[in-house]
Amino acid sequence: MAYVAFGKVEDYDEEKILSVIEKLFSLTGIDRNFEPGERILLKPNVLAPRKAEMGITTNPKFVSATVKFLRTLGLEVIVSDSPGGAGTKSMFAMKETGIYDAAVNAGAKVVPIEKFGIKTFKSDGGAKIHISKIIDEVDGIVNLPKLKTHSLTLLTLAVKNCYGLVPGFMKARYHFYYPTPRKFSWLLAEIYERVRDKIRAVILDGIVAMEGNGPSAGDLRKLGLIGISDDCAAIDDALEKMLGLDKPSPVIKELKKRKLVPAYKVLWLNGEETKIHDFAIPSNWKMRLIPSFLGTLANRLIQIYPIVDESLCTGCWECASSCPANAINISSNGLPKFDYKRCIRCLCCHEICPSKAIKLKRTFLTRFV
Ligand code: SF4
Ligand code: SF4
Repeated sequence: MAYVAFGKVEDYDEEKILSVIEKLFSLTGIDRNFEPGERILLKPNVLAPRKAEMGITTNPKFVSATVKFLRTLGLEVIVSDSPGGAGTKSMFAMKETGIYDAAVNAGAKVVPIEKFGIKTFKSDGGAKIHISKIIDEVDGIVNLPKLKTHSLTLLTLAVKNCYGLVPGFMKARYHFYYPTPRKFSWLLAEIYERVRDKIRAVILDGIVAMEGNGPSAGDLRKLGLIGISDDCAAIDDALEKMLGLDKPSPVIKELKKRKLVPAYKVLWLNGEETKIHDFAIPSNWKMRLIPSFLGTLANRLIQIYPIVDESLCTGCWECASSCPANAINISSNGLPKFDYKRCIRCLCCHEICPSKAIKLKRTFLTRFV
């Protein structure tokens, strides 16, 4: 039986966060999963080099409180993650987000994930999948996801946060190979299956969550929530129920198919049980679920596609360099131009744009879906 436990805290006050984390570990006994002296990878969500207040990454104060807690268990803590975007270096991203300073000041070592090389495994169907060898250099992993929506997978929680173990340059390529929610969820489940034995705990930052068109262009919503678990799939399933989703996300469906969602018990600190109402999901979500048997025509007529808001675009070209289909070119006015014949609607450009300049446009027929 796995444990999932939740507590509340009003804001990013480091001492209060630390206190709630301590109480949640003691409530569940998950601290027994660690031995003093072990080397633990603390893996936050460092999607992109963005400031903490944008709510795109795990908050640095949350990272700092977690490092301090793990140090009290006598653990050696190293912090690392691979951001999205083909050319973004992990150290640059961790410094920009404030995670580097927060982690070092709290007693952790921050390491660039690029230095660990890559290991490759084969799925049952023979697909080659690459992840960082960092997982062989540590005794265990503490997963530190941020609660956000995601235009491809509906939500990004603990299992999706494991995708940060895929090297940056491969991330975009996998979006090309696995462009639909179902295929991408299959990939996430493959990766999760290979790393789950190493994951000792999940500590979820849901103090300020992101709803709407996440994972980077959504709206911030204060939930004041901290979650912990000894199992990524269990806490993800519990969160989906708490958010009141009509149906499980494609990630949970895939995990259930593989029997990777264990039985679990949910506990609340101080009887603070909370239901979250009206959590906004991505605007493209219904279109994402149009079954492929309806054919290419239906999928062309009923869809969401990216466009550029020229008043916000700075011409930085991050969208073009992260497009797995090479569908973004330079137009004569220096702004990105989409080649919709090549575009696979993965929305990586929307995810990576630092200026929220890529908007999602619906075709006329989407209003009837
Ligand atoms: S749309 Fe966004 S990512 Fe692309 S060039 Fe403009 S600002 Fe940069
Ligand atoms: S243009 Fe955007 S949505 Fe289309 S393939 Fe490229 S990154 Fe994906």
